[in-house]
Amino acid sequence: MRAVTVIPGVPGSLRLLDDYPEPAPEEGPILVEALSVGVCGTDIEIIEGQYGEAPPDTDQLVLGHESLGRVLEDPTGTRQPGDLVAGIVRHPDPMPCPNCAVGEWDMCRNGLFTEHGIKALPGFARERWRLQPRFAVGLDPSLIEVGMLLEPASVMVKAWDHVDRIGQRAEWQPRTALITGAGPIGLLAALLASQRGLAVHVLDLATEGPKPALAAALGATYHSGPLDRLDLEPDVIIECTGAPVVVLEAMCRVGPNGIVCLAGVSSGGRTIDFDAGALNRTLVLENNVVFGSVNANRRHWEGAAEALSKADPAWLASLITRRVPLAEYATAYSPGPQDIKVVLDFAA
Ligand SMILES: [Zn+2]
Repeated sequence: MRAVTVIPGVPGSLRLLDDYPEPAPEEGPILVEALSVGVCGTDIEIIEGQYGEAPPDTDQLVLGHESLGRVLEDPTGTRQPGDLVAGIVRHPDPMPCPNCAVGEWDMCRNGLFTEHGIKALPGFARERWRLQPRFAVGLDPSLIEVGMLLEPASVMVKAWDHVDRIGQRAEWQPRTALITGAGPIGLLAALLASQRGLAVHVLDLATEGPKPALAAALGATYHSGPLDRLDLEPDVIIECTGAPVVVLEAMCRVGPNGIVCLAGVSSGGRTIDFDAGALNRTLVLENNVVFGSVNANRRHWEGAAEALSKADPAWLASLITRRVPLAEYATAYSPGPQDIKVVLDFAA
């Protein structure tokens, strides 16, 4: 069968193989036919050789962690043939650590977890894959065009879940949320904020292209200037850019008792002249919290499936700016300036 593969650590090793082996029975009893796979920055880093790890006993890694497929067979009866499913990306570490032991693999403490398409497990960019029932998440049939957004949505459901948990330290009645960065992750964070009834602001560099209208369609206010010029004291900031200046501004600009979730990964290696004492003073005197968030566990994936099924299908579809047939796979990994989410289409 066909599969999109790389040799991790080897730039330029991206290939579409047509003789990749069928998924092994040990992967799980649920056999799934791939429909589509979302592409994100992690895939591009893996292709550039910066990241990624092949499964043991091979040097090839199948790409793809934003999955959507249709069940072909499930002898366990957990899923019916034809059901839409996505595969949970991270599997718990084998020890397991205290968090993985209770299903919180998103909070793994020892780093020995594995991840489909990223770390030691084959990804979903292959025509068929298999899942264990506990790693299969069902989707409403109406999500057939957009269900590959479940993975990025799950990451943002976790971010909001942790905002809520931190908020519970005291009386917590948030009204205003600011999302920095209007890529797919930021727009999904804004969707979840709007579903919570918050007044939503979205900040991004773009002044043209689809982002301003996508934010406006959620009822959010779109800003394209620097963060320090916004006349706003948000209760919650979800930082999705990873841009060092924006990260620092977010920490300084959140309102009293505010919560800043850092969800963007910076590349590092750049230093900034910054008044750390002033930041400390603000955080202490205003009881502010800054925390980092990555990945998601099953509870978040299920929350994401519910959130997507409640969202406007046309809005979700408009996040997908390009659908690339599998035969033209390489172009999917070269996003254009107007792209939000590019999808590899296995059904085309
Ligand atoms: Zn663990």
